[in-house]
Amino acid sequence: MSRPIHARIDLAALQHNFYIARKHAQNARVIAVIKANAYGHGLLNIANAIKAADAFAVLELDAAIRLREAGIYQPILLLEGFFSEADLAIIRQYQLSTVIHHHEQLAMLSSSKQETKINVFLKINTGMNRLGFTPEKGLVALKILKNNPRIDQITLMTHFASADDPFKKDEVNQQLKRFHLFAGKYPLPCSLANSAAILQYPKAHADWVRPGIMLYGASPLIDKTASELGLRPVMTVSSKIIAIQYLAAKEKVGYGGQFQTEQPMHIGIVACGYADGYPRHAPTGTPVLVNGQRTRIVGRISMDMLTVDLTGIKNARIGSPVILWGNELPIEEVATSAGTISYELFCALSSRVKTITT
Ligand code: PLP
Repeated sequence: MSRPIHARIDLAALQHNFYIARKHAQNARVIAVIKANAYGHGLLNIANAIKAADAFAVLELDAAIRLREAGIYQPILLLEGFFSEADLAIIRQYQLSTVIHHHEQLAMLSSSKQETKINVFLKINTGMNRLGFTPEKGLVALKILKNNPRIDQITLMTHFASADDPFKKDEVNQQLKRFHLFAGKYPLPCSLANSAAILQYPKAHADWVRPGIMLYGASPLIDKTASELGLRPVMTVSSKIIAIQYLAAKEKVGYGGQFQTEQPMHIGIVACGYADGYPRHAPTGTPVLVNGQRTRIVGRISMDMLTVDLTGIKNARIGSPVILWGNELPIEEVATSAGTISYELFCALSSRVKTITT
């Protein structure tokens, strides 16, 4: 028998969240961001379930190939572009679209002798200071791309650093202004908005939006919950109680004995640890559901197990269901308690956790 931990993937919730993105940006086409194994949700499963997406974005070339070989016909955008001539040949072979953010990529494009035309997204750095050309260098890059007969459609893009934070509106508006100053001169399609900008900055919707986290039902905004935004969790990670300890007062629990009982109490041992992707730094007090009732983690998370307080939990016994995050327990609550973000928890889910699709 296998361990009782699994991740349930609710495709109806995914489709609902996709519809919310569409509804917010009605005049834009939607590039569903499914990098990092669709934020841990399963690449092909997710891509096949959002048939209405106008395009997909990934980072990994092998993910793009898997999508094409699985029959995904929509444009597939490589968000970091390519790293070698060999990558570029694959891009042409599989008819992928690519971000261009660096002059090395431009040089490889120019020297490539292959005939097939490709579509590119020219990335302009408007303040994130990670990838992209400054507006001044972007001008030169755009000229080079326009003169390259093997480039088909050029789309201009940028990425926001702080669209999730209501206190950083000035910074987002500054990035918007820089982008428009550049892009306003050319009659080319544009793409700016991630999930947070889709929800908060209609001015940034332009021609293509790029939702990621909202598709999976987690809030992209630091001041709003997913349910306030009408989003539904796609992933629910659940397990079971596999042992119960009845401890006297002043007993310690787990590695390092970090938690000590004040009075006699029942502790539930749950089949879920950091090797499953649960954050090791989640402290005592991190929320968890047992038999649908809210309680807290106590003691240190170990590789394969974690320990929960069963005080006041009705009918707690070996086999009682435990929800780590998802339905009824927003992932943001767990992430905040563990000092991280929902993105990281999703991506950290280990391959040993079986996925069940509903
Ligand atoms: N666009 C780009 C360039 C990204 O790198 C990402 C993700 O990091 C997204 C869009 C989607 O962002 P989010 O998941 O916050 O919607």
